[in-house]
Amino acid sequence: MKTLFIAGISGSIGEQALEVLNTEWFKENVKLIGGSVYSNWNKLKIDIDKYKLKAVAIVNAQQNLPNDYNDCKIFQGEDSVEKAIQYCDSDISLIATSGFSGLKHTISAINFSERICLANKESIVCGGNYVLNLAKKFKKLIIPVDSEHSAIYQLLLGEVTIPEKIILTASGGSVRDIPIDSLENVTPKEVLNHPVWSMGARITVDSATMVNKGLEVFEAYHLFGVKNIDVLINRDSHVHSIVQFSDGVFKMHFGLPNMKVPIAFSISYPERKFNFNKPLLSNTKIEFQKVDYNRYPSLQLAFNILGNPILQNAFNAADEVAVESFLSGEIKFTDIYYIIYKTINKIQQEFSNSTGREFISLEEILEVDKISRTIAKQFILQSR
Ligand code: NDP
Ligand code: MG
Repeated sequence: MKTLFIAGISGSIGEQALEVLNTEWFKENVKLIGGSVYSNWNKLKIDIDKYKLKAVAIVNAQQNLPNDYNDCKIFQGEDSVEKAIQYCDSDISLIATSGFSGLKHTISAINFSERICLANKESIVCGGNYVLNLAKKFKKLIIPVDSEHSAIYQLLLGEVTIPEKIILTASGGSVRDIPIDSLENVTPKEVLNHPVWSMGARITVDSATMVNKGLEVFEAYHLFGVKNIDVLINRDSHVHSIVQFSDGVFKMHFGLPNMKVPIAFSISYPERKFNFNKPLLSNTKIEFQKVDYNRYPSLQLAFNILGNPILQNAFNAADEVAVESFLSGEIKFTDIYYIIYKTINKIQQEFSNSTGREFISLEEILEVDKISRTIAKQFILQSR
């Protein structure tokens, strides 16, 4: 029986992971012992009772909570997730926190768990080689959960040749059919209604701008060491990504789109223990479209800064701030790109001596994130 901790247990990935744990093989082979949330105590309480958890963390406790509840230790406050990960000392940690905050949780998991099932793409986007080198140093296994990267990970199992090219697939997001001229008027409600995937708020907005695909380009570059990356639209999201080899062979990862599949794979690897529906191949048409970069300028911007850790970090920070402002009605959908663009330009000026080099410490990563957020907030204020 392997023990598991889930950071972000109340989120979209966290909930789907719990559904996986309630299926046959997982019930008998994986024991959930801890989890964390930002503020959702009601959800945590249910999980503590249902799974008899050893420890949980709540970062923003709005009420005075006890230190223990039904034999479960409760950590509260800023570093609570790191403390709970250490206390649980689980074999596996699934890091499904949203946003940059997940980076510290990933680092903690690298210290205390043997395997890190990594949904939090920001850990790789912002932490880059720093995080991967740490995992290498401590001989820990990182298995990506992001569907495209899980697909590539699976496609490369057994290959000794580095692929010539990686092709990430994209759905195009929730407003993919709205005329470009009308995009500035789309509302948060329209954007949050994704045609294929059901996900947390930020990643759903990021799918619509394709900032998400930009983050995934950075993620793929770091995880697989390939810089030749392309993006194609596969509207029904049945092809989860493609690797291209020099002999003209393309390997594609095909299946119904559902995050439970990569979540389950990351936990049961190297075995496949999840049962899921199979599409009818005789009725299947596989189609790809080129990306229209006029519709998705943020993805072009991501390609322009690929391989520059400081700017990749700024790209993520500015987007997190801009998406929050869009969702609260402060800025337009199309402003998200301009906020990221201007923030990156400013950061490029401020860090002109260090662009292009890898991060050497966590402090440096945190500093770039903090400065980028401040700059992005200033641009948002100016735009109003
Ligand atoms: P959600 O917004 O649905 O859930 C986020 C989870 O993280 C919640 O449990 C939330 O707690 C917790 N959380 C948020 N902020 C903090 C914080 N500062 N400190 C501690 N915990 C926090 O996100 P998703 O599940 O959609 O995404 C999670 C990660 O997985 C993201 O990095 C995303 O990019 C990635 N991912 C998600 C996919 C999906 O299909 N959803 C697909 C591929 C990748 P609370 O409920 O209390 O707010
Ligand atoms: Mg993805």
